[in-house]
Amino acid sequence: MNIFENKNFDNHEQIIFCQESNCALQAIIAIHDTRLGPAIGGCRMYPYATVEDALNDVLRLSRGMTYKSAINNFNFGGGKSVIIGDPTKFKSEAVFRTFGRFVDGLNGRYITAEDLGTDIKCMEWVRIETKHVVGIPSYVGGLGDPSPVTAHGVLVGIKACLKKTTGSENFTNTKVAIQGIGHVGYHLCKELHEHGAKLYITDIDEEAVKKISDKFKVTVVDPDKIYDLNVDIFAPCALGGIINDSTIPQLKCSIVAGAANNPLANEEKHGIALKQRGILYAPDYIINAGGLIDAASEFFHAGKALAWTKTEEIYDTLMHVFDYAEKNNIPPVLAAKELAELRINAIKHSQNIYTRRGKSRR
Ligand code: NAD
Repeated sequence: MNIFENKNFDNHEQIIFCQESNCALQAIIAIHDTRLGPAIGGCRMYPYATVEDALNDVLRLSRGMTYKSAINNFNFGGGKSVIIGDPTKFKSEAVFRTFGRFVDGLNGRYITAEDLGTDIKCMEWVRIETKHVVGIPSYVGGLGDPSPVTAHGVLVGIKACLKKTTGSENFTNTKVAIQGIGHVGYHLCKELHEHGAKLYITDIDEEAVKKISDKFKVTVVDPDKIYDLNVDIFAPCALGGIINDSTIPQLKCSIVAGAANNPLANEEKHGIALKQRGILYAPDYIINAGGLIDAASEFFHAGKALAWTKTEEIYDTLMHVFDYAEKNNIPPVLAAKELAELRINAIKHSQNIYTRRGKSRR
């Protein structure tokens, strides 16, 4: 495998392969771009079939964090990490403390947090070994689980999509299909239920399904039946890559807007395909930015209340991207990337000016 020629490598600054054989830790940390600031991004635990799968996932995720930070006006770079393993069997203090030591060795170039398959308990273990972690419990100085804030951001983003497509933000009788009702999906269900939406849910975890269907009025469908439902909105809140050649023709919705990172298997190809089918796609790194907003609030000791307030900005950011996309006749996902790159390049040039603090201002 020639990593430098991997199409997802895409100008990554640094990739760190981490191994500690006693606790069987195998992890990859990817730092895509630090032009705006230290790379930030969660740590995913997943039973990848191959190291190549893990590498491709971490590369795509870290690049997404670069754009997420830039387009949402933060001064962070893009990074991400993956631990290869089944989260139902492999989560332990030893694994996460060992991972924490690898993060610490990067001396602040990468700040980690929870992601799919990891949680605040894992990050509490990481915190024992390094201060370069967010999403930790409040009793160790953090803001706790970011998922409710992320879910609220998704709700705000769906409102913007509704406004753009229907002229109204009214959820009454709006049908929403949610794929994955884990940390974010659960809170999204709760908020949508409170707004009067009609919910269709699926998950491969029966416990998660039961937890939701015991509490809210929902229609449960099999995982492979979620794509072709007669709904207004499809909200992917599980894995990436699920909007692809085989699922796009099945979609009957007019909006795709959810928390999942990298839901488009190929951003350009599938962004265009959605546009051609008249489906409005809310770029993942804007609509799920609540997680980053929560992380930044913790990093800057700004408090949870500010995170909730700032999440409302997702509405205007999305509207700006939709307008730019319309004006330039490009899909929103490419518009978001273009706007993010414009900001990174503009800020990068300002750094040419010498100051005594130099780069150390961060
Ligand atoms: P999670 O692990 O808590 O939940 C994911 C859920 O998806 C699980 O219940 C899992 O069983 C289910 N799932 C997995 N494969 C599935 C399939 N094929 N069909 C249906 N369900 C399936 O993760 P989460 O924290 O809720 O994150 C969800 C997504 O949102 C991820 O892509 C994550 O990267 C992204 N995200 C999360 C946050 C956050 O604050 N947690 C922030 C930004 C982005």
